[in-house]
Parts: sequence; structure tokens; C-alpha cells
Amino acid sequence: MKSVTLLGATGSIGTSTLDIIRRHRNEYKLHGIVANSSVDKTIEIIKEFKPQRVALADPIACRKLHEELKKQNLYVDVLEGPAGCEELSGDGASEIVVAAIVGAAGLKPILSAVKTGCIVALANKESLVMSGKIFFNEAKKYGAKILPVDSEHSAIFQCLPYELQTNLGFCDLKKANVSKILLTGSGGPFRDTPLAELPAVTPKQAVAHPVWSMGPKISVDSATMMNKGLEFIEARYLFNATDDDIKVVIHPQSVIHSMVAYTDGAVMAQMGLPDMRTPIAVAMGFPERIESGVAPLDFEKLGELTFRAPDYERYPCLKLAMQASVSGQGATTALNAANEIAVDAFLKEKIRYTDIAVVVEKVLNTFGSPELHSVDEVLSADSQSRDIAREAVKELANG
Ligand code: NAD
Ligand code: MG
Repeated sequence: MKSVTLLGATGSIGTSTLDIIRRHRNEYKLHGIVANSSVDKTIEIIKEFKPQRVALADPIACRKLHEELKKQNLYVDVLEGPAGCEELSGDGASEIVVAAIVGAAGLKPILSAVKTGCIVALANKESLVMSGKIFFNEAKKYGAKILPVDSEHSAIFQCLPYELQTNLGFCDLKKANVSKILLTGSGGPFRDTPLAELPAVTPKQAVAHPVWSMGPKISVDSATMMNKGLEFIEARYLFNATDDDIKVVIHPQSVIHSMVAYTDGAVMAQMGLPDMRTPIAVAMGFPERIESGVAPLDFEKLGELTFRAPDYERYPCLKLAMQASVSGQGATTALNAANEIAVDAFLKEKIRYTDIAVVVEKVLNTFGSPELHSVDEVLSADSQSRDIAREAVKELANG
């Protein structure tokens, strides 16, 4: 019986992870859950999975949770606020911590899980974008094993040999004769929208992803392809790759989830329906394969698989992310912070869709790319970049 702690339990990845646990009740037991503020969903999870501990980041939601638990005669240890989330994540009671909090808020809880030397099934790409090398040095120091949940990185992972799979962050692609990592992306809902129409697209249109069903922030990131940019940076750290080792390919059908090309000409591709339960099951079961509830691909109904190069005029955020990756950790942290502020402002209809890239570029130009040596320096860079981004949003919102 493996004990699991689920960070971001009430979200999209959290819900898919709970379904895997539900299908393997004799193998996995839910020890703890962490979420932000969704009290109703938290209560539902407590009733069904009976975790021992719960942490909510939002103190007001925490108070409401206490009241509800009392009313319904449910007993569970409740921890409060960001400190409570970190404490639960790092309590060391679980062999597996699934990291599915959205955004930079995930960094500290994930790092406290890393310090317990557990298996971290990592969905939260923002933490790697911010802390990359520092993150993997911590993992090495404490003996934590990082396994990717992001579907593209899971696909790449599945196409790599075992020696590399078990040495993420430090693996040697050249020694394994890998010639290229091919990172695929659908191109999002505005893949074929005339460029002139992009400034007027609404949050509702941006969140309606053609293939995947995901949380609002990552859905907007998929539309701008900032998501692919963040994944480019994530892939660099996970697979110890250079910028030249990775190529982004648009693949609208999202049947191939990414590929690895070898120097002998062979290209390994991982395929499957676009359902996050597959990569979650790969990470939770590794090195075994476990059933996930995902239907098999029906090749007779599949139709054509097509591929094209990304157009940076349509996807300026992708270009900015790739440039930040070359500049270094200071720039990638600034990029991520600026993007979180800009996406939030877009979702609240304060700025236009095309302003997201404007805010990110402004922050990158202002903040530059100072070297970051510690988690505290990363968090300080994150906070300074957010301030610059808020100013840029204000200017754009005031016309
Ligand atoms: P979501 O918005 O559906 O869920 C986010 C979860 O994080 C919720 O449980 C929320 O309560 C929790 N949370 C938010 N702020 C928090 C805070 N300050 N402290 C504690 N918990 C907090 O997001 P999602 O789509 O499930 O994505 C989660 C992460 O996984 C993101 O980093 C995303 O990039 C990554 N990811 C998601 C998908 C997908 O298909 N949804 C695919 C690949 C990677
Ligand atoms: Mg992905």
C-alpha cells in the first residue's frame, strides 16, 4: 500500500489523480490533500477518500471548512494557510507526492515535499521554470525522485531508456544518442484564427481548448502557446537538455504527445487519447504500468495526423519563453511571474488577449536576467517581476 499526498487536489489534475487512486484502492491510500479555497470539493474528497490531513491555503475557506466538518461530524486534521500547506507537503508520511497546485504558489510546498526524499509526480511546471537547477540539486541532496506528469514530458520520459528515466535532471542525452527532443503542441483554439481578430478574443473563447480539458490558467497558456514555452524550459531542466536539443512542433490532433529522435534515425513517439490519467498513471505506477481508465486509441477512426512549424507572429509568448530560456533562471522566473499576472488580468477582462505578450516582454526587458542562487532569491525575483507586471497591466488597462 503506497501512501499519497495530493497537492492541488480540487483541480483538474487533482480530480484525475483521485480517479487513479479510486481504481487502485488496494495499492494507493490518500494521506493528505492540499488546495486553495474550494470547501465543497474538499468535503467531497474527505468523505470519499478519508485522508488524515487537509490543508487549505485560504484562511477564510479554512474556517468555513472547520464549520462544515463539525456540522457533518467528519474528523480530519486541518492545517491552515500557506504555512499549513507546506507543513502537510513536507510531513514525510507519503511515498508519493503528486504536485498539481497551479502556478508559483506550488514552489514552496513542492520543495518541502522534495526534502522528504519521496517520489514527486510533478504536474506543476511553473516550479521548475522558476527554480530549475536549484530544484534538481535539492532533489539530489535529499534523494527525491522526480517523475513528470505534464503529458509531453511524460511522453518524452516514456521514449527514453531506463538509465535516463531514473536520473532526471542529470541525465546525459548525448551518451544515450538522443539527437532531438520533439515537443508537440496542439496550437490551441486560435491556431487558424486570422491574426487581426486576436486582439478581440474573449476569455471564454481562450479557455475553450479544442482537445484538452484543463484549469483556466493553463488553458489560456495553451492558447498563447506560453504553455509550450514553459514546457520548453521544463524539458530543459528535466532532461538536462540544451536549447538546441529541443524543437517545438505543432500537431493539431494531439495524438502524439511528444517524441524523441535518436542518432540512428529512429524516432520514438508516445501516442494515446488526450487524457491526463495516462501520464498520472505512468508516474504513479513507475516502473510498472497500471490501468488508468483511458480508452485505447482507435486507429481506424483516427484519421490524419498533421504537423507544422510554430508561427512566432501568432505565438509571441512562445518566442519570449525560448529567449528567456537562453537568458537564464532570472529571466524564466520573471517570464513566469509576468505571465501569471497578465493571464489573471486577461481572465478578469482588464487587458486584451494580445496584451499578455506585451506585459511579459515589458517585464523581461525591465527585469533582465540576474543570476539566482537560492530559493529566497527566486521568490524575491518572482515578487519584483509581479510588481513590474502589475504596473504594465495598469498602464494597458488605462489605455
Ligand atoms: P486547476 O486550476 O484546475 O487546479 C489548481 C489546484 O491548485 C486547485 O486544487 C487549487 O485549489 C490549488 N491551488 C491554487 N492555488 C493554491 C495555493 N496558493 N495553495 C495551495 N493550493 C492552491 O489547475 P490544473 O489544470 O489542475 O493544473 C495544475 C498544474 O498542473 C498547473 O501547474 C498546470 O500547468 C499543470 N498541468 C495541468 C495539466 C492539465 O491537463 N490540467 C496538464 C499538464 C500540466
Ligand atoms: Mg503539457
